Amino acid sequence: MPKRLTPLRSIRAFCLWCCLGNYREIGLCPAEECSLHPFRSGKGSRGKGSILKPVRAKCLDCSGYSIVSARDCWAEECSLWPYRMGKRPKKEGAPKRKGSNKGIEAMRKARLSAKVPS
Ligand code: SF4
Ligand code: SF4
Repeated sequence: MPKRLTPLRSIRAFCLWCCLGNYREIGLCPAEECSLHPFRSGKGSRGKGSILKPVRAKCLDCSGYSIVSARDCWAEECSLWPYRMGKRPKKEGAPKRKGSNKGIEAMRKARLSAKVPS
């Protein structure tokens, strides 16, 4: 699997692919209806709204608006692939459980404060 790019760089790479490797063409792209259009320069996503939703929209467009096809897309070499679900994928090695250790912490405190039988 190729190295994962940031969402913005992924879009830039996708646009470069779409423009057959011609950087100049990306800037000249007239397809304002393309969900990636506001992000095609690869910089300055601030104020342009969510960056992952347009990726999701592009993948649905690419998959014939089939959620299943977008999810099961096999084109791992596509720069948008890690973000095709409209989410940032978990980092490798990250814990699977989400949330804090509040429960464990509470149990630890309760155990520490419990009276030790003499
Ligand atoms: S904005 Fe859309 S149509 Fe334009 S270069 Fe990027 S992917 Fe292609
Ligand atoms: S990741 Fe798959 S569905 Fe999304 S644009 Fe690339 S090839 Fe199409």
